[in-house]
Amino acid sequence: MVRSGFQRAVVTGGAGFLGSHLCEQLVSRGTEVLCLDNFVTGSSRNVRECATDSRFRLVECDVTRPLPVTGDVDLVVHLASPASPKDYQRLPIETMLVGGQGCMQALELATEKEARFLLASTSEVYGDPLEHPQRESYWGNVNPIGPRSVYDEAKRYAEALTCAYRRERGTRAGIARIFNSYGPRMQPDDGRMVPTFVCQALRGKPLTVAGSGRQTRSVCYASDTVRGLLALADSGCEGPLNIGNPQEYSVLYLAETIRDLAGGTAPIEFVAGAADDPRRRCPDITAAEEQLGWQPEIGMHEGLLHTLHWFAELLGVDTASDRV
Ligand code: NAD
Ligand code: UDP
Repeated sequence: MVRSGFQRAVVTGGAGFLGSHLCEQLVSRGTEVLCLDNFVTGSSRNVRECATDSRFRLVECDVTRPLPVTGDVDLVVHLASPASPKDYQRLPIETMLVGGQGCMQALELATEKEARFLLASTSEVYGDPLEHPQRESYWGNVNPIGPRSVYDEAKRYAEALTCAYRRERGTRAGIARIFNSYGPRMQPDDGRMVPTFVCQALRGKPLTVAGSGRQTRSVCYASDTVRGLLALADSGCEGPLNIGNPQEYSVLYLAETIRDLAGGTAPIEFVAGAADDPRRRCPDITAAEEQLGWQPEIGMHEGLLHTLHWFAELLGVDTASDRV
């Protein structure tokens, strides 16, 4: 077991997809974890294994309000936020509040406790990027009034707020810009590309590719993302650092690959493209490699196969173990 330098961590949004994997890793490293979540897009099911460990505690609360935390804390990770386009467009005001007020509550807590703070920011701060691949020095190309703006601008505000706390209050803050991550515990109906294609492929339904499918994404398996987040927390680096997998694929190629790995023959169905859908996205991870010694280890096929297995079990697709 790799022991963590942290004794007690507060993880906002810890019952979500990435948060649950992060809580699990922290607990396995010997850190006591207080997970704060209002289950707006997460679920206590995601942390049910963690919950069997006495070092883990889950408290249902809205982190835009003062946080119910007493005692020492030496790490605060702010992950709380709807993250899929479908969720943040369904919850636009909540998304802005948790990026703004929620981030401020987490920063206040970290500052008061003199804890390390880690913000889960996003590649969406680059918007529809005009530079490729995206380096941390790029300022981005975001439509401030489009349907994605509630998420993109909330995260840009959260980054600015984090830097303000660092400058004004001396908060030991780091910023991770996370690129598309995937794996077990994503919600089957959250509308994101990987769970949508995986569930369609397993059910033998057409795979709904938006627009031409020529837009690109770089997908990082959850365990790699979480290892990157922990390396950044441990390091004391300020960032922002890109955490993502630099292998870039078209959305159409990803859909076809998922269908083929599932052993299916379902057709591709082209559907209307989403407004302001970024055309290209790929991280330059040189900074994370140099400063953290981190890079992804799980290749696309391996990660997608793990994900297909997990979803096959969740959906009760009994032929999947033969096909996948
Ligand atoms: P998720 O929706 O699975 O998890 C988010 C969690 O935050 C959920 O459990 C939700 O219930 C909780 N939450 C939301 N608002 C809250 C509030 N006001 N109070 C308390 N809890 C609240 O999303 P995820 O994919 O695990 O993403 C986690 C974080 O990582 C988010 O901040 C997201 O922006 C960031 N991120 C994720 C990705 C990705 O590909 N998964 C990429 C970039 C950034
Ligand atoms: N996408 C798709 N079909 C779907 C869901 C998503 O073609 O059923 C596309 C979407 O338009 C985008 C890419 O897949 O180009 C990634 O979408 P996702 O919602 O996973 O994340 P984003 O990177 O857009 O936040």
